Amino acid sequence: APSGVTLAERARRVIPGGVNSGQRSIPGLTEMVIARASGARFWDADGRQYTDYHAAFGPPLLGHNDPDVNAAVAEAGTRVDLCGVAVTHGEIQLAETLAELVPSIEKVLLTSTGSEATFHALRVARAATGRRLVVKFQGCYHGWHDSVSLNVISAPDRVGVPDPISTGILPEVLDATLVLRFNDVAAVRAAFAAHGDDIAAVIVEPVPHNVGCLLPDQEFLQALRDECTRAGSVLVFDEVITGFRHDLGGWQRISGVTPDLTTLGKAIANGYPIGALGGRADLMDLFSTRPGAPAFFAGTYNGHPAVVAAALATLGKLRAEPVHEHVYRLGERARAGIAEALADLGVPAVVTGHGSVFVTYFMPGPAPRSYDDLLRNDAGMFIGYRRRMPEHGIFELPLNLKRNHISYAHTDADIDHLVEATRAAV
Ligand code: PMP
Repeated sequence: APSGVTLAERARRVIPGGVNSGQRSIPGLTEMVIARASGARFWDADGRQYTDYHAAFGPPLLGHNDPDVNAAVAEAGTRVDLCGVAVTHGEIQLAETLAELVPSIEKVLLTSTGSEATFHALRVARAATGRRLVVKFQGCYHGWHDSVSLNVISAPDRVGVPDPISTGILPEVLDATLVLRFNDVAAVRAAFAAHGDDIAAVIVEPVPHNVGCLLPDQEFLQALRDECTRAGSVLVFDEVITGFRHDLGGWQRISGVTPDLTTLGKAIANGYPIGALGGRADLMDLFSTRPGAPAFFAGTYNGHPAVVAAALATLGKLRAEPVHEHVYRLGERARAGIAEALADLGVPAVVTGHGSVFVTYFMPGPAPRSYDDLLRNDAGMFIGYRRRMPEHGIFELPLNLKRNHISYAHTDADIDHLVEATRAAV
């Protein structure tokens, strides 16, 4: 088999350094070529083994290549390979399951990615309200499309001024987006007081995990609900990460705050390409093939039978086995162990997260509540430490503020090794 160095050189010639496999442009990953993954581990092209805490940004909650999910996909592949024409039994079962589990969901549209789900959510919100503006929050990420691919991480002095994370976004899109501070109830009230009549939607990661973990104040989520209800705006919870990773019903079940629309993805199919938009029937019914309707165009692969089979198998296992219990317990063990190790070393750190998600910020406490607080994190230390972890056979993405994930396939021994490796690397 070709060596990692040879493959990395071939990749440089034919694959750009930008998105996705262009994680290659992150120092520390330029030479990494992945060959195989199973359970809590993956192997590179030279046979090096890593215990994986990055987990491809989060989907494999059950672990990589879960045998039950793979068996369901293989079985579906022998039966039907056709989608986008008429509905399948599996698609109906999946929609019924999501509607049963997620409080706000009455009807469901399947997509192939989370980005498509958030795109459809904003389109349908604009169509339903006849309004233009979208409110989003610093530190939240909602996908790659123009409507929201702004301001993942904006500087505190630019709050309220949308700031593209990439060039090539239409200025009209920037003009139609208001970016506010997370957990800032006064900012939300002020935005609605000034622009309420023109706010189509508020979109929020109920727990902003794209900058590690900012836990929401209950009053903040409730204020979003109240202001949207009062102004007739659509509240969208982007649960692409928080969705089935934290709870079968999403963060909305944990918080008791119910959005109008919910986007899902990642963990619901354990790594197969899926997204879903669900919500109030009156909003979802705006999607139709009637010309002029918000979703007159459809996606060729929406409801792909192999992906639907993966989702049904994943959700079946999440319901039947103590997956959340296991990853929550290991998450607590990881956070406590890492915090203790860093305290022993006298390194100022905030070890935070929820359930299976954990992140170590290198900064003095208290736990951050908004993106501004994260500017206290020592990025050099954060990245430097992660670049040392492969020496101990552990992979955490060497990129500032990125969260880690624990899967059902990780064990207590894995977590103990993680804690010892962290102590050594720091
Ligand atoms: N919303 C959130 C909260 C996400 O984290 C992501 C992906 N990281 C997306 C939407 C976009 O999903 P996808 O990458 O599947 O398009």
